[in-house]
Amino acid sequence: MPKPSARLTGLPGYGRGRAGQGVAFAHRLGSNEAPDPPSAAVQAAVATAMAGAHRYPDLRGETLVETLARRHGLPADMVAVSAGSVTMLDQLIRAYCDPGDRVVTPWRSYEAYPIIVGGAGACLVEVPLDGDHRLNAAAILHACKSEARVVIVCNPNNPTGTALAPTELEALLDAIPEQTLVILDEAYADYADEAGMVASSPARRLSRHQNLVVLRTFSKAWGLAGMRVGYCLADRSIVAAANAVAPPFPLPATAQAAALAALAEEDVVATRIAASLEQRQCMYEGLAALGFQVAVSKANFVWLAVAGEAEALTQHLHAAGIAVRCFRGEGVRVTTGTAADTQALLTAAAMWAAGRGMR
Ligand code: PMP
Repeated sequence: MPKPSARLTGLPGYGRGRAGQGVAFAHRLGSNEAPDPPSAAVQAAVATAMAGAHRYPDLRGETLVETLARRHGLPADMVAVSAGSVTMLDQLIRAYCDPGDRVVTPWRSYEAYPIIVGGAGACLVEVPLDGDHRLNAAAILHACKSEARVVIVCNPNNPTGTALAPTELEALLDAIPEQTLVILDEAYADYADEAGMVASSPARRLSRHQNLVVLRTFSKAWGLAGMRVGYCLADRSIVAAANAVAPPFPLPATAQAAALAALAEEDVVATRIAASLEQRQCMYEGLAALGFQVAVSKANFVWLAVAGEAEALTQHLHAAGIAVRCFRGEGVRVTTGTAADTQALLTAAAMWAAGRGMR
């Protein structure tokens, strides 16, 4: 048989298995998805796009790009769309890294980073989080100073949910050498606006830092994980480089239509975000009261740093019909869902805590 590239040796796999089918979890809190289905308007827009699906869509999602550019107050050549933000990350790494180049990222962070960086033949430099599961800005900076080609900062961070304050992030961006591409993965930024975490204006940041790319997605707060729509905002030279390695027609017409329809009803999205934040607070308070160590989350999930008990806790929750994401030896990540999901989680967690004599 033909042999795949040696770059593939030792790449970690991605944790998620089949979506839904075959596994009867009543509470799907494992993948940081939004709990509500797309609105009627979004579903209608997809149906309309489907009727024209015998034609190719916009080559680079131009209408969506222009709409996003207006929303963020940027020119259209500072925006590029992709099939999920993870694909844009892959394009950026391929566009900016040669084999052996160093890519710095805080760790533990999003599990796709090692796969994408390793797949491009680049070398991932992992900078440990601090004792509060937060990004360690000084350590990131130290690692960047020794010829990092790219640094990936996930803020708020997946899976810990912790976020840098705008002043901390600004200081970090100021200090990173100009020739290093900074990818700021803001998949969860929509959940972090309150209390001054994660400044909501990428445009302002981009005007200060030309080496910055902001990654956003429709998979979380915008509730369209199944449509696979992501995008980046960056200096036009970075957008051009990302587009240079993109496949033609990266986004299906249905996905473009869904994203455009969602953007047309931001109020619906805002209401859903508020509901998620409410559930996050309930989860946080309930779990902390049971004696769990819960990191302060600015995303749509909470991180339970149970270390060696991660697998046992995951199995316990799975047995209660609750899907969560296990990080073996480190912790368990639980996505916010509906009020019923929170209730089920807290009931199962209380049984676990009682069995362990936690409180
Ligand atoms: N970045 C982070 C931090 C994520 O957690 C995820 C999804 N889990 C993504 C990017 C990818 O999102 P998508 O490709 O669905 O846009």
